[in-house]
Amino acid sequence: FKGGTDDVRESPAIRVVRSLIADGCIITAYDPAAMKNAQAVLPEGSVAFAENAYQVMDEADALVVLTDWAEFSQLDMVQIKQRLGSPIVLDGRNMFDSSAMKEMGLTYVCVGRPSDGIVTAKQAFSAGKRKKRALVTGAAGFLGSHMVDALLAEGYSVLGVDNLLTGRVKNIQHLNGDPHFEFLRHDISEPFDPGTMDMVFNMASPASPVDYTIHGVETLLVGSSGTRNALEIARRYKAKFLHCSTSECYGDPLIHPQPESYWGHVNPIGPRSVYDESKRFSEALIMAYHRYYGVDTRLVRIFNTYGPRLQLNDGRVISNFLRQALCGEDLTIYGDGSQTRSFCYVSDQIDGLLRLMHSDEHNPVNIGNPEEFTILECANEVLAATGSESRLVFRSLPQDDPKQRCPDITRAMTLLGWTPKVRLPQGLHLSIPWFAANIGKKADNEHLAPRHITLPALSELPLRTGSARTVTLVDSMRSVSS
Ligand code: NAD
Ligand code: UDP
Repeated sequence: FKGGTDDVRESPAIRVVRSLIADGCIITAYDPAAMKNAQAVLPEGSVAFAENAYQVMDEADALVVLTDWAEFSQLDMVQIKQRLGSPIVLDGRNMFDSSAMKEMGLTYVCVGRPSDGIVTAKQAFSAGKRKKRALVTGAAGFLGSHMVDALLAEGYSVLGVDNLLTGRVKNIQHLNGDPHFEFLRHDISEPFDPGTMDMVFNMASPASPVDYTIHGVETLLVGSSGTRNALEIARRYKAKFLHCSTSECYGDPLIHPQPESYWGHVNPIGPRSVYDESKRFSEALIMAYHRYYGVDTRLVRIFNTYGPRLQLNDGRVISNFLRQALCGEDLTIYGDGSQTRSFCYVSDQIDGLLRLMHSDEHNPVNIGNPEEFTILECANEVLAATGSESRLVFRSLPQDDPKQRCPDITRAMTLLGWTPKVRLPQGLHLSIPWFAANIGKKADNEHLAPRHITLPALSELPLRTGSARTVTLVDSMRSVSS
């Protein structure tokens, strides 16, 4: 934390690294003396260490300078520019000459020297660089909040909309005060007009089996009315539109791996139908808006995605296993654990979504990691990554739980040049610090009791009693009474 020492006690640099990891950043670090001590206090495997100051820059999205070693002030700016993937330098120790950095074409952000023409982080982003305005529905959710971060980093102004049904304010709290981010608490199943938009990312919907079973009707409404409202915004403002659909459209698939051309094997009235049919309806609606109204739409079928900010208590397998392993509880395997899933790390998923948005592809594209694991294998990966000695216990398999799931990503590779980069063990390592830091903390709008519900069969659902109602549905063609 200061040049010339290997002391890392109470080091702000370590705090910054931890917080970047928690936000899903992939860190490569270098320090001439303190790497060994840093390694001991950072979660194992969470940071890669480089051999010299130049090596850390290779292909990085930004260089962050956190200690004032004299050798850092001597770094060759041409090399910095050439090696960085994006020419951004965040200088926490005011080590560099600002005009020279600017002349070199580097975006230079330092601290506490605003008067000599150096930009602060906020000024850097407001310096006329904002390209366009993007709407993200479901912005306080797991994927939505990562999308907001990615768009802000790309220079967009973002309006995030969320009714906080399953999302959390905490996921976007770090954007408080960012002049390029606005948040609107609103249920998108009700119409709204956010003003001019260039892009709409429609990400709002309960997503885990536990969440959509609890919020069944809301799930159907957000897929139907909510998607229609989001489409109307894209239509009105001629915005590009991307919708997050799901591998659940394939149901319990009979074809393996699943290509986009497969129409699926779905129970339309089972407990998962509220989600499956909501997403299938939204896909049909989006294709209709594209065909009949010329809206510039895109459809992504997302396969099981995980990472920091996954709701701790959403009942999904990675959130359950990580929470259980870190708390020393038994890992709950549903069924015999032979069913398979393919797990995609969040940074790969967001990269795929952005590539699709920037493409002209209107037909569905699978985005997921085709490396397939049985649930038992997944449990063992979690035990290995956490070093936990938790036991495996077996519970009943929920109704209609798909036996296998694995994306065919040929279209994503050929159309978008996309392939996932983060394998499950690495992704788990990247997720653990966030889970460890958040377990036990009660978030503003979250009840942290672990949730596991067994999905009831239709015959077990209580029937409402009372007088029958006559409902009349009218459209321009005919009138139906039932
Ligand atoms: P999430 O529950 O963390 O986020 C969904 C967000 O949508 C939440 O913040 C929630 O409050 C919000 N929301 C729900 N209904 C809303 C409404 N009517 N109006 C406004 N906001 C509403 O889930 P996630 O994993 O981030 O999923 C995001 C999207 O990706 C969803 O559409 C989901 O179906 C899709 N998806 C996710 C996965 C995955 O593995 N994470 C897989 C397939 C599809
Ligand atoms: N699962 C499990 N234990 C858990 C949670 C889930 O064995 O604690 C299983 C679940 O039955 C399913 C798989 O893990 O076979 C993935 O479940 P998840 O809820 O994450 O998502 P799904 O792919 O079913 O939508």
